[in-house]
Amino acid sequence: MDHFLYRNGHLHAEDVALSDIAAAVGTPFYCYSAATLTRHFRLFQEALSPLPNLVCFAVKSNSNVAVLKLLGDLGAGMDVVSIGEYLRARAAGVPGERIVFSGVGKTRAEMRSALEGGIRQFNVESDPELEALSEVATALGVTAPIALRVNPDVDAKTHEKISTGRKEDKFGVPISRAREIYARAAALPGLRVVGIDMHIGSQLTDLAPFEAAYTKMAELTRALRADGHTIERLDLGGGLGIPYTRSNDAPPLPVDYGAMVKRVLGDLECEIEIEPGRLISGNAGVLVTEVIYRKKAEEREFLIVDAAMNDLVRPAMYSAHHDIDPLVEAVPGEPLVPVDIVGPICESGDTFAKQRALPLLQAGDRIAFRSAGAYGAVMASEYNSRPLVPEVLVSGDHFAVIRKRPDYDAMIARDTIPDWL
Ligand SMILES: *Cc1c(COP(=O)(O)O)cnc(C)c1O
Repeated sequence: MDHFLYRNGHLHAEDVALSDIAAAVGTPFYCYSAATLTRHFRLFQEALSPLPNLVCFAVKSNSNVAVLKLLGDLGAGMDVVSIGEYLRARAAGVPGERIVFSGVGKTRAEMRSALEGGIRQFNVESDPELEALSEVATALGVTAPIALRVNPDVDAKTHEKISTGRKEDKFGVPISRAREIYARAAALPGLRVVGIDMHIGSQLTDLAPFEAAYTKMAELTRALRADGHTIERLDLGGGLGIPYTRSNDAPPLPVDYGAMVKRVLGDLECEIEIEPGRLISGNAGVLVTEVIYRKKAEEREFLIVDAAMNDLVRPAMYSAHHDIDPLVEAVPGEPLVPVDIVGPICESGDTFAKQRALPLLQAGDRIAFRSAGAYGAVMASEYNSRPLVPEVLVSGDHFAVIRKRPDYDAMIARDTIPDWL
């Protein structure tokens, strides 16, 4: 459930009409609903209760500092994959003790900054990373809490580019070598083993791969404890999928996921950490854009809109589907016409949807791409020298710009011309 609904024929974010925001901010813009973010975060907490748990929001899905502050104030932890994300979480007021540092390529400089700033846990993904972290922590005279990211060799059966838990994926250490690497970790100075970590992929629409992975995690917990390690936390990763269309089958709900977790891992007396991104932020955001032209070609009609693949890359990158709602609701019985919705960028890949049935929209009409709160603004670029799209947060009947639209001068001023030119 989200809070983007039609009222009196106009699409609203909570109690604010999106067309009012468009009039104030211009298009395109991202808009997030505070109530939806809050609801999704709480669903996870409730689903895992009464197990001790920390729901760590995957910052990479939406890293706006206002969004992080909203979730952090509710008690969320943060899962970060770079020191940039770590600093964003800290800027949002989230203490280091609630920040988990994931990722295959942490540099020594990043490790040092996180250790100095305070960190709950490093999710270590390889032997060389283990050695590097041991050296950095020892040099600082501190101890780094670690979990090893174990690759359970489970096929998440999701999109190729976001599957991470198979043998051939670059992530984690093979489960067959886990005991040996934990032994190595225990012998190295400056490290303290606190748990096990897994993350098998994103946009999973079935609980079976999770259950297979967590079953292996339970076995590994027992084996590692028998080897003398203290396993007090289990980090289950993120990855629960969301409905991107109203028509297809709904993926499992957090409550079903939580019930499975309790069944498979509940008796291990561990604190459960999870790292959901998409399920918290995805359906909490839309991208609003305006039609620049309606163009008739020989075979089909195009709506050329003012958002492009640089603003929302998911359709071009993952062939992703986003539902599209006009800001003004179609009247019942109004004929729908198939159109291709495309951006202004000079690439055929700059296509949001093909042959989508929409009311007859004209230049100046506005539409919203749904489910754009995750992997939307964070993946935007300035390709074609298009400044980053602003972000707006709605709560109840008010809204605020939480990242303003950059101006062209500032964008150009970032480049410098060497004095020999
Ligand atoms: C991407 C990622 C997540 C979040 O995945 P979602 O599908 O957005 O829930 C969590 N943990 C790690 C390590 C990730 O790389």
